Amino acid sequence: MPTLKKLTAPEIRAIAETIKRTYSPSAFFTKELGDLRGGLWRGGVDCPFCDGKRDKFHINSDDGGWNCSKCKAAGSDIISFTRQRYGLKFFEAVEKITGGKVIQPDPEIAQKRGAELLEARRKHIEGQAAAAVKAREIWDRATPITERSQHHYLMKKRVQAHGARLLGCVLIIPLVDADGRISTVQRIYPDGQKRLLSGGKKSGCYFILGKPTDTILIAEGFATAASLFEHTEKYAVMTGDAGNLLPVSKIIRAKHPGANIIICGDNDASGVGQAAAREAALACGGKFIFPPIEGQDFNDFINAGGLVYG
Ligand SMILES: [Zn+2]
Repeated sequence: MPTLKKLTAPEIRAIAETIKRTYSPSAFFTKELGDLRGGLWRGGVDCPFCDGKRDKFHINSDDGGWNCSKCKAAGSDIISFTRQRYGLKFFEAVEKITGGKVIQPDPEIAQKRGAELLEARRKHIEGQAAAAVKAREIWDRATPITERSQHHYLMKKRVQAHGARLLGCVLIIPLVDADGRISTVQRIYPDGQKRLLSGGKKSGCYFILGKPTDTILIAEGFATAASLFEHTEKYAVMTGDAGNLLPVSKIIRAKHPGANIIICGDNDASGVGQAAAREAALACGGKFIFPPIEGQDFNDFINAGGLVYG
């Protein structure tokens, strides 16, 4: 294969930009993984990074973003996918995608793709607004929980509801944006399955437990944040997943400039939870911790008798 290695970093970046502006994510992922079957955010294929089935692996056919809700592998474009799938450096991934060719932006293709991206962005924002309306409706219909025995998940995880509500047999957790508006809801089913509203805004949105304290704990999952809050009585913030630790921690830092922020990550076998916690801590000038045993989150750790001191 020819090499792009001799090119300078800006030259490689220009080619990477051309890839983003001209390559169709759908065509790319179809070539990599087979027939996608589904549309936007429906991968239709099994996760190539773990044994996750196709309901776990999601692809955004508009911008090439992808993630697996099982192993938490994630990226924002086809270059990050290529890097992670094949263990490549940035320029190597660019080289693999172009077949080693130095590609120039074709103005016609770039313009068409630019229009597609704009249209996708418009649909995306419309979808978020519609999901926020639906989230509000669900939240208004749901009823307060007075006893944790009302939901199997609370019993199993040994946590209280902390303001989460119940709709039928589903636990409803509202995620709010920086202005406190509900943007989406996480629904937790009795078997522990978690679902967000499709199209809802999640990035930078969160659920809060308690009132602000000098130390603020930020964690991925509801049960983890609830255990941490019950155990330490510190203000706890739930982000929903590892990828959202970073945007949420920046918002929490902006709201609480003097707080001691601790990112309480999951100890994932894949290393994703730890890396995300470290990255978020760096971004917000906070600290990060995770439980000592692989596979644990702080809900497991605290339920096993572990102690956390805020
Ligand atoms: Zn996976």
